[in-house]
Amino acid sequence: MSNLAIWFVTGSQHLYGPETLEQVAANSQAIVEALNASGKFPVPVIWKPTMTDTDAITGLSAAANADDSCVGLILWMHTFSPAKMWIRGLTTLNRPVCHFHTQFNRDLPWDSIDMDFMNLNQAAHGDREAGHLHTRIGLKRRVVVGHWSTEGTLAELAAWSRVAYGWRVLQTTKIARFGDNMRYVSVTDGDKVSAEIQFGFSVNGFGVGDLVEKVNAVSESAVDALIQEYLSLYDVAPELLPGGARYESLRDAARQEIGIEAFLVEGGFGGFTTTFEDLHGLNQLPGLACQRLMAKGYGFGAEGDWKTAALLRFIKAVSTGQTGGSSFMEDYTYHLEPGNELVLGAHMLELCPTIAKSRPRLEIHPLGIGGKADPVRLVFDAPAGPALNASLVDLGHRFRLLVNTVTAVDVPPMPNLPVGRALWKVDPDFQTGVSAWILAGGAHHTVYTYDVTADQLAEFAEMAGIEVVFIDDLTRLRDLQTTLRANEAYYR
Ligand code: MN
Repeated sequence: MSNLAIWFVTGSQHLYGPETLEQVAANSQAIVEALNASGKFPVPVIWKPTMTDTDAITGLSAAANADDSCVGLILWMHTFSPAKMWIRGLTTLNRPVCHFHTQFNRDLPWDSIDMDFMNLNQAAHGDREAGHLHTRIGLKRRVVVGHWSTEGTLAELAAWSRVAYGWRVLQTTKIARFGDNMRYVSVTDGDKVSAEIQFGFSVNGFGVGDLVEKVNAVSESAVDALIQEYLSLYDVAPELLPGGARYESLRDAARQEIGIEAFLVEGGFGGFTTTFEDLHGLNQLPGLACQRLMAKGYGFGAEGDWKTAALLRFIKAVSTGQTGGSSFMEDYTYHLEPGNELVLGAHMLELCPTIAKSRPRLEIHPLGIGGKADPVRLVFDAPAGPALNASLVDLGHRFRLLVNTVTAVDVPPMPNLPVGRALWKVDPDFQTGVSAWILAGGAHHTVYTYDVTADQLAEFAEMAGIEVVFIDDLTRLRDLQTTLRANEAYYR
């Protein structure tokens, strides 16, 4: 995926003559340079020659479709570009589009403005002509408005680019499912064929025995090296240190991590699921391994939850290079103090340490479920601040993405709960937010992120062609129920 790029396409027409078209090309190249220099984009933005006729646009569209490295297209009409020229190309394009409504000059030169200036700076009407056609053909696109030099505009364009990049990654993601679903659980199950048709990612099952083979084949020297990495990154409990009473358990955990990663790398997988009901041949539930592989960018879902694994892989890709962190999460238990209701998010073991607010501790404790040896895990608290939970649910005839913005608060000491923990208040308030989540059929498993925004998830839903439902500070229960009913009709 290293050669991925976004194409920057400028529209014009022949009417203006070569001199103006040269200026148009130079101006759009200057914009592309500024975008790349901003350092905000997940992949390079590549300048494409100015489009001035139907055949060129059709050719560009075919080239984009055929080029695996093309993540999406930014379109901008520097001058007027009669939009019927774009019909053939845009109706066959299968890449995400962002319509960038900008103008090369920021300020009007009041004293010198003349018709030459007017002929060059035509986005105000040229982009409206384009937008009309986009609407007419039902083109799915984002519209970003503003001068290309301003921080906010660049940030918006970059946010879209991140989603387009994540979408490209997700479309080719392979998820390995070790074991099947946790028995009898509904929300983690679903239609994997429909998912592949809708999103492109594939989910296939593997016997845990194949994984055990990889784990057992790990060399002692590889385990030694990984233990050194653990010692440098985490505060390790004394009993897990070399020579400590439980050191062998840490070596087992390291072996699991290397074995699972080897399996994923060999098969080209971008995510995986486990289930504690199928661990034959693994002597402890993989906790540390899942935590660390998430931190490396793999999607993960516990109990066979392949939808959350895929969503996490997507969100990890969207937030490439960002530092807030994203994790597999479960709404575990509540603090129901009136007026200060909180959700405690955790899992048996598997939260991603990218959301740790300080250096994680590596510990070993019994697990009262699964009947295996005590698992090693990273223990940490997630930081206070704005975050969100996202859940991808299968409604049988379609997928719904459910997004709840939350405010994380400081996690108080919980000495007897040695797992990764996050604590948050849901928007708009506990009763409304949780009622809405339950009415919308949201899962108890989510992706929890400090990096990816609700707007970006709206963009993702648009690209993927799925329903998205927001529970945020503006949510009123009656309106939400009306929305759900309307969506039921719209997506039928
Ligand atoms: Mn769970």
